[in-house]
Amino acid sequence: MDNVINKKECGWKNLDEGKKSDIFTFCGQYMTFLDRAKTEREANSLIIQELEKNNFKPISSMDTLMKGDKVYFNNRGKSLLAAVIGSDQLTEGMNIVGAHIDSPRLDLKPNPLYEDAQLALFKTHYYGGIKKYQWTTIPLAIHGVIVKSNGEKVEINIGEEENDPIFTITDLLPHLSQQQNSKKLEEAIEGESLNILVGSIPKGEDSVKKNILCLLNEKYGIKEIDFYSSEIEVVPAFKARNLGFDESMIAAYGQDDRVCAYSLLRALIESEDCQYTKIAIFADKEEIGSVGNTGMYSDVFDYFIHEILEKTYSNSPSALTKTYCHSRMLSADVGAGVDPNYQDVFEKNNASFIGCGVELNKYTGSRGKSGASDANAEFVAYVRNIFESKNIKYQVSELGKVDIGGGGTIAFILANKGIDVIDCGVPVISMHSPYEVTSKYDVYSAFEAYKAFFESSNKIDY
Ligand code: MN
Ligand code: MN
Repeated sequence: MDNVINKKECGWKNLDEGKKSDIFTFCGQYMTFLDRAKTEREANSLIIQELEKNNFKPISSMDTLMKGDKVYFNNRGKSLLAAVIGSDQLTEGMNIVGAHIDSPRLDLKPNPLYEDAQLALFKTHYYGGIKKYQWTTIPLAIHGVIVKSNGEKVEINIGEEENDPIFTITDLLPHLSQQQNSKKLEEAIEGESLNILVGSIPKGEDSVKKNILCLLNEKYGIKEIDFYSSEIEVVPAFKARNLGFDESMIAAYGQDDRVCAYSLLRALIESEDCQYTKIAIFADKEEIGSVGNTGMYSDVFDYFIHEILEKTYSNSPSALTKTYCHSRMLSADVGAGVDPNYQDVFEKNNASFIGCGVELNKYTGSRGKSGASDANAEFVAYVRNIFESKNIKYQVSELGKVDIGGGGTIAFILANKGIDVIDCGVPVISMHSPYEVTSKYDVYSAFEAYKAFFESSNKIDY
């Protein structure tokens, strides 16, 4: 790597064919994962399947833990923690990589089904930061669970198979849109008009709504009241596709942040056992502020680490804090890649370009770094050293221009515990849209970065 900074180098340039083929193979597997993991619950169960195939066991099934032991903790089927025990005591510090598996979407309201203008529709409540107009007139699929009052759980996944019906949110024809067109973009489509069209045949002399309820009862054995205890997510019915004549990019729903989650999963499994204990976090609820008992703020993380301390006999009153203060972490979340159509929101010396490798964000936040977790220079040097010594291409960037906006990740939550944390993930174009774009080069680069980070036995030089 030369000494020219601010010049982002295209990763594909002069790339050897062997490496290119590794990248394409890896990304093919990633795209299969995306198609099967469209919700946090689906991602969670696929990740557990993969971990179990690789000899990870529920931590509750192990009385003691030794070097090389592989364990995981399934938090309510929606978030997940995994560990590979290192040869050092846990209090010497852990190498942590943390991603999230929830994505922006539309949730069904608890009383979703209604009939209007002789059509049946579902009311939705959007989850995370979406641009509402992007969710109209596209094919949508319905995924989720309904739990009956007797505890029986019904899983729903409709709209993904070729012969499945899909659903959609309608929009006004241009001929009658004069009023709508003159509204601000963020006001033109209201949250309360994101209603999903789900049927149009009445039940005999009775209503269309009645007919839908009968169909739902036949297919899933549910009654209308069972929606009260459901979590049903409406997501784009698109499959992940190769993008471009050169097929160098991926267009797919849910890449924020399943792109980092998948790269992390592979890095955890494929990295060598090492001195420091490796921890992988697959968090839920990042898109709405990491709150709740499956979000990163929850004490479940402390509980998991505490259990490892106990089972490795390294528990003492101060062990948890000591462990955190000696630990290092990559917060594996996506960043914004420069969009050629909207370049003026980026400050190009400090922006990421897709295809130029994994990005490091020393800090996030907005305006005067409000809400930022700002990684210490010594720790940035530590991470640089890992990447540079393994020839992993990386770019250092911020989200956008200083006064334009901002964002955050789970980084500060872990940093508040005393851990050294830096954001490190894949740049995305059209982030939070139903069809996000990444470069295959960066996806693989994230995998390499997380793997090298896990395998490092360096110490930070303070
Ligand atoms: Mn994210
Ligand atoms: Mn996000």
